[in-house]
This record gives sequence, structure tokens and C-alpha cells, in this order.
Amino acid sequence: MFFQKELCLYCHMPFEEQTGWAGLLFLTEPDLLCEGCRSGLAPIHGNRCDRCSRPMHEQGRCQDCIRWEETPSIGGALDKNISLYTYNSFMKEYIARFKYRGDYELARLFGEEIRKAAPKADMILPVPLSEERMRERGFNQARALGEMAGLKMQEGLVRMHSEKQAKMTRRERIERRQVFEIHPDAPVFRGKTILLIDDIYTTGTTLRQAGILLKEAGARRVLSVTIAR
Ligand SMILES: [Zn+2]
Ligand SMILES: [Zn+2]
Repeated sequence: MFFQKELCLYCHMPFEEQTGWAGLLFLTEPDLLCEGCRSGLAPIHGNRCDRCSRPMHEQGRCQDCIRWEETPSIGGALDKNISLYTYNSFMKEYIARFKYRGDYELARLFGEEIRKAAPKADMILPVPLSEERMRERGFNQARALGEMAGLKMQEGLVRMHSEKQAKMTRRERIERRQVFEIHPDAPVFRGKTILLIDDIYTTGTTLRQAGILLKEAGARRVLSVTIAR
């Protein structure tokens, strides 16, 4: 074993990275987190819902996804979501620091894993922020994650301003609660498999709203990768 002093990406404390021969020969990436921080992350493995990645005791589909599928216009909007980690208290803190406090560097931790988890797709779209949020934060966390993963992304969706949403008809607001619209320079979606990148899957509503629009525009499949759920 060889020891190398590193600074933890999250807590900034120096830690001893154990690098065996493989690490020394650059066959494995060194860990970016100290042992303490790493232990706060809960990777999702084993049985999971085949739609949303919720950890389950057995194979199949979770109750929430079954319910979604029964809702007209929403059922089938999202073919599959892949999440890497459970949204536990550590992840909550991590994402808050990354997203709300603008620590762009923190996206580095997930780059390689997102790249490996990303299913094959014809085009990759980061879930957009509204212009207001973009101004506040200075970057889009979904795009940052995709960039760290080395994925080639396109602009396909726009998140509407709240004023614009207010102008939607009552029916639109009630039935769709749509927050996205198609980007004016969007590529052709017809027949394509589209991969969405986002940070968290909470209820799945956001990704499904994007999915509804993309499917209406002719997309064949809509998939997503999120770091946590
Ligand atoms: Zn640490
Ligand atoms: Zn599910």
C-alpha cells in the first residue's frame, strides 16, 4: 500500500488515500472524499423499481409508479429513471452546498458514475432552470453534472418564468401544471431516445412534465439519470 495526502472534496480535511498498485498505475481513480464523508453516501444497489430506481425488497414497480401509469397524459411520460444514491441527510447537505451555495466543484464527485450509469440515447438534455434561478445561482446544476460526466448535451427545453405560467389558461394550469416548453432551437425529437439529467428525483413530477412535452413532440423514449432519489 502507498499513501498519498489528499484534501477531501467535501470537508476539505486532509486524508490518506490508500492507493494500491492499481491506483499507482492510474488504473483506478483516487477517491475524492475522505472515509467519513464517503460513509455518509448511501449507494442504491440491489432490487429497485424498474421505473424510478426506488430501492425495493423485490423486483418490479413501486406503488407510486403504478399510480403514475394509471394517470392519463402522465403514464408513460418517463420510461426509466436511474438514480445513484439515496437522498439521505448527508446527500441533502451535499446537494444544498453544491446547488444553493454554488460550489460547482462538488459535481466532480459524480461525473464518472453518471457517465457509467447513463443509458444510450440519441440526445442528452439537462433539466433547465428558469432564467431567474439561473441568475441567482450562476449555473445549472443539472448541466454541471452532465459536464462533469463528459456528456455532450443539447438545449431542448426551457423552464418557463413564473409570470408566464400565470398566463396559462386555467385548464392548462390545472391539468398540466406544465413548467417547461420546447426550446426554440430544439433539435428534432421525433423517434429519438432522450436522456434527461437532473440532480434529484423527488416525486418524479418534474421529469415527467419534461417527458410529457418530449413525447408530445414525438420522442420514442424518455430516460433520466439523477444523482439522488
Ligand atoms: Zn470529508
Ligand atoms: Zn417507482
